[in-house]
Amino acid sequence: MDGMEEGEKKEQKGKGGGILTNELFSELFVSELTAKAIREMNYTHLTQIQARSIPHLMVGDDVLGSARTGSGKTLAFLIPAIELLHNARFTPRNGTVVIVVCPTRELAIQTHDVAKKLMKYHSQTLGYVIGGTNMRSEANQLVKGVNLLVATPGRLLDHLKSTGGFNYKGLKCLIIDEADRILEQNFEEDMKQIFKRLPQNKQTVLFSATQTQRVEDFANFTFGKKEERQRKLVY
Ligand code: ADP
Ligand code: MG
Repeated sequence: MDGMEEGEKKEQKGKGGGILTNELFSELFVSELTAKAIREMNYTHLTQIQARSIPHLMVGDDVLGSARTGSGKTLAFLIPAIELLHNARFTPRNGTVVIVVCPTRELAIQTHDVAKKLMKYHSQTLGYVIGGTNMRSEANQLVKGVNLLVATPGRLLDHLKSTGGFNYKGLKCLIIDEADRILEQNFEEDMKQIFKRLPQNKQTVLFSATQTQRVEDFANFTFGKKEERQRKLVY
């Protein structure tokens, strides 16, 4: 296990400093395709935020998750998202089913790279759209059908507005990573424009390194009036 010290019994930590639980990835109810990728990435035990949020995410609940930087939030939201794609046997024809919004290009690329490893044995498609790159080549990818899309807010909004053939009508899950940073960087208005364009009936997931009133208000806004859906606060 990466970075784990021997003899450190009570609070074993993962590479990023996330506190490891006794729960094993090998006992998680995920597809063998995902399980195999996780083994190859050398993860054995779930971190706290992973153990607390993955069960809710896997049953489709809306989640507001908060845990400090390095605690393993990326796997917490990517594993359930990939299982959603796998269980419904989505193909490129289904278009974009999951969107992960990240505050910066660097974070979007990092998240995409983790998803790529986790999806190594899956057939579903993965891509990213970020600012500062060619809109046209991104658009060509989107039109072919990107099942799991990682995006920065501004560029995502541009494609929602202007990329004909970008099929997001079947969106099932919207994940907002680093919600606190997204708000700090004044993407709130872009996010509101994004919500307006996306299908209403979907799972909404927010992750944040800090717990602030602003993030909570933003979560309440994004979760909307979906009485039938369970909402979970995990930290
Ligand atoms: P966060 O998004 O909460 O800041 P990340 O998802 O980026 O954290 O993970 C931080 C680091 O911890 C990464 O290097 C990642 O590979 C590692 N990590 C994540 N989950 C585990 C785990 N269950 N066991 C060991 N290391 C982990
Ligand atoms: Mg993160």
